[in-house]
Amino acid sequence: MSSCLRLYTPGGLLAKQILLKHQRHSSITPAQIYGRSTFNHSLSSSVPFRAGTPLVQRSFSHSSKSFTSASTEHLKPSSTKSGSLDYAAIEKKWLNRWKEAKEAAAANIAANSPTGTTSDSTAASKNDREKFYILSMFPYPSGVLHMGHVRVYAICDSLARARRLMGYDASVINPMGWDAFGLPAENAAIERSIHPNEWTIRNIAIMKTQMEKILADFDWDRELRTCSPEYYHWTQYLFLKLHEAGLAYQKEAVVNWDPIDETVLANEQVDSEGKSWRSGALVEKRRLRQWFFKITEYAEDLLQDLDRLEHWPDRVKQMQRNWIGKSTGAEFDFGVHTPGAPPIQVFTSRPDTLYGVQFLAVSTEHPILNHVPTTHQSQLEAFKEAQKKGTTSNTDQTPEGVHTGLFVDHPLIPDTKIPVYAVNYVVSDYGTGAVMGVPGHDERDYAFAKFLGMDIKYVVTPDSGNEDEAKKSAGALTARGVLMGNCGEFSNMTSDDAAKAIVDKASALGFGREKTSYRIRDWLLSRQRYWGAPIPMIHCGGCGPVPVPEKDLPVILPTDVSFTGRGGSPLKQIKEWVECSCPRCGGAAQRDTDTMDTFVDSSWYFFRYLDPHNKSMAFSYDKATTGMPVDIYIGGVEHAILHLLYSRFLSKFAWKSGLYGKGAEIEDKEGKAPGRGEPFKVLLTQGMVQGRTFKDPVTGAFLRPSEVDLSDPQNPIQKSTGERPAESYEKMSKSKFNGVDPEDMIAIHGADATRLHVLYKAPPSEELEWDELSIVGMQRFLAKVWRVVEHAASFESQGDSSQSEFKPSTGVMNKDERELWRQLNITVKELTTSFQSTYAFNTSIAFLIKLTNQLSTFVPPAAAAPNQSNNVISRGLYRHTTEELVKMLSPLAPAFGEECWEALGPTSKSKKTVPSVFSQSWPKCYEEAIKDEKVVCGVQVNGKSRFSIEFDVSELPQDKVAQEQFLRGLAYQHERSDKWLKDAQGQPKPVKKMIVVKGGKVVSFVL
Ligand SMILES: [Zn+2]
Repeated sequence: MSSCLRLYTPGGLLAKQILLKHQRHSSITPAQIYGRSTFNHSLSSSVPFRAGTPLVQRSFSHSSKSFTSASTEHLKPSSTKSGSLDYAAIEKKWLNRWKEAKEAAAANIAANSPTGTTSDSTAASKNDREKFYILSMFPYPSGVLHMGHVRVYAICDSLARARRLMGYDASVINPMGWDAFGLPAENAAIERSIHPNEWTIRNIAIMKTQMEKILADFDWDRELRTCSPEYYHWTQYLFLKLHEAGLAYQKEAVVNWDPIDETVLANEQVDSEGKSWRSGALVEKRRLRQWFFKITEYAEDLLQDLDRLEHWPDRVKQMQRNWIGKSTGAEFDFGVHTPGAPPIQVFTSRPDTLYGVQFLAVSTEHPILNHVPTTHQSQLEAFKEAQKKGTTSNTDQTPEGVHTGLFVDHPLIPDTKIPVYAVNYVVSDYGTGAVMGVPGHDERDYAFAKFLGMDIKYVVTPDSGNEDEAKKSAGALTARGVLMGNCGEFSNMTSDDAAKAIVDKASALGFGREKTSYRIRDWLLSRQRYWGAPIPMIHCGGCGPVPVPEKDLPVILPTDVSFTGRGGSPLKQIKEWVECSCPRCGGAAQRDTDTMDTFVDSSWYFFRYLDPHNKSMAFSYDKATTGMPVDIYIGGVEHAILHLLYSRFLSKFAWKSGLYGKGAEIEDKEGKAPGRGEPFKVLLTQGMVQGRTFKDPVTGAFLRPSEVDLSDPQNPIQKSTGERPAESYEKMSKSKFNGVDPEDMIAIHGADATRLHVLYKAPPSEELEWDELSIVGMQRFLAKVWRVVEHAASFESQGDSSQSEFKPSTGVMNKDERELWRQLNITVKELTTSFQSTYAFNTSIAFLIKLTNQLSTFVPPAAAAPNQSNNVISRGLYRHTTEELVKMLSPLAPAFGEECWEALGPTSKSKKTVPSVFSQSWPKCYEEAIKDEKVVCGVQVNGKSRFSIEFDVSELPQDKVAQEQFLRGLAYQHERSDKWLKDAQGQPKPVKKMIVVKGGKVVSFVL
């Protein structure tokens, strides 16, 4: 601990310590202050506080009043000047202490274990308490921790620590790991000639140190890396399970192709201009044989079960609903005129508009295009070539298309030839890759018809009007209504009735049927890159694709590769790896050279955390059944769709295939778990951290910090112009020069204050405008807490506070004591709710500040004013309130909390040492203390209401005479009593009779 003794004021460390000891022990004796010897445990000599701050030379006023037998001393209110704290020293001290404690605990377990080997806290549940599983989205090991990470880890670390205080102890699961596969490592290999594995491991080491600096206490014995064979062994195993269940399959697909990185991109990796997010290349479309997970098989489950997720943000659920995109309607077959061509199937959610079909629109990949007459082929090829640019999902571009030379018949209107167009706005994988063009009632079809110069046909009108009426309104009429007279036997039916009748007729005639369609597409997981889990399949000329037998897993990613950055996966170049024998027939075969999308790795890692060292299974049935679902999942809203949907899919698959059990459905004391294989009970999506951003108001160019004079932070000046720059808060980024390095913040302000600041500035789900200037507010708060602790340390604890048994009798409290007691309980209630359900840490901190301020008013002045008898509180209550304050603050500011707790000293006489604050119990809230105590009492004079007085319910004496006296006293203090109850000289008029009714809510004077 000697390294933690650094005092804030430079020079003379030893001398100052001696001086302090001298002050404590000789300038005033403990017995003089405390009446008993309790001092030896307070403010142990290693406390890093500012030297010279007088610790005990306070004047205390003694009062005979007491509410417990243990204490008779009272404090008088005051404030003291600030003392400064060396936060860095405090943090270093406690990081070392925590480390030592963990090592000691591990050694202890090893010593007591028969085999002397296990230090695995995951091995067995050491207590019978319920588990509480906190999960933060694991990071990609980039080697750089940013403020967004600080925010999410501050939230989850605070939650974990609070839960431990609440009695979950070792059953809190708060793991951390690394989403370690992915493109950046491979690009680093190409650019810097460092192997992806080496690069990744180096970055992990850096980030672990950074996480330690923000005092995040993760379960490192559960740590995992998705790039290690011990992990991807089981990713491959799950792939095989999905394959076995028919949920992993191969098909040719149109993909987004990055011609520079030579890889397939997800639509999300393509920007609005159709360029690759990484290389910036114009993305092309290509057809490739790809692996898919059949997530569409679960579309209905994934949709329906959103309703079970009570504790997910509504907007996230809505985004998932939209992504799944269920629509019910019909499928119609349109016969093609060309001999030998199959009918074109279309899906529509509006079968009632069948009479309005003016063309069919098919995707440029639709198989019917193989039947295009030669007269139209070159035109079609040119169009397809032009469409290669752009992504597979740019459905919001201007509709364009070419006639294919093909025609279909309208199934219900005789002799109607309908042209077929190949268009850019129909996606090949959506539905059937063909839609019926109804320009009168669909906006995209309308836009395309206008592009073609077509007359628009209307068949449905909101009223039962005619087509001419409808034509008056420009654009598509998308609302349902009544079918017009041009719809044969269905005319004048409502849209709903007509839809049903038309589908019935289509079924009877055999050209259509009812159909439900989903927008969600199967999950394309093949990547033609190196740094990912190899797909465990072998391609045999005779047998086709054959799964690698489970016993041969993992398929190890070869390490000896060369990175050129070109030519697809480097795995293809490694002949000795690719060439293998077929597991089925033994013949010559080749390994699949694709690797898996990193979203596969991250869609099941929360299972592996529960059983991270299992060598024979992905996770044990029992551990997953007990540990799932995750109680709270914290991460960025940018993962609201894909990652969460994929995780739900994998988790449901694991549940349905019996990899874990019904435990996921049991109801716990904090509400029902969603069940049905849903992995996450509560989802907390944290908002972005934004930085203060300066721009040249004329050019709009971002300004570097060096280009802005911030000597007056409220009035920034652009140095080059002397004018005020444009200012905003924007997502932190290098190009905007508005980034903040968390390590700098911690070095300057301390991790505790930085954490508090991040949590205090905004509720977790909202955007956080990073403002370094206001961290000082948090430091002031901590300094104030420290002064309160200094004072409380000198008073003996009331009972064993680890049991939270302290409960004063409110009946004998004075007004200030009651108010403090009330405020303490309000704060306990607020913090408890916040840590358990609302996660409103910003308000929680505000409550802690308020309680601290209230305690501060009772710090005795150097020279106590002798007559301030009203503001005197018991030392016992002061000490107790301080202890509870420190316990509640500790999860948020852990090192500072420990320091305060140690400074307070043992909580009972019988104890000599101070255990960690995190081994204490969470404060208990006494509901009766926070009931609304104010009584508004109406004062009646001779039967008429004149004014009202206010008092605390506890102040009202029980005795009838005392009650009247009390109320009379209050009434005479009221200014309006001059008029109604007093004579011209200001003397009370004689009272004939006084009646107190409704427990003091009305008092009636009869004069
Ligand atoms: Zn074979």
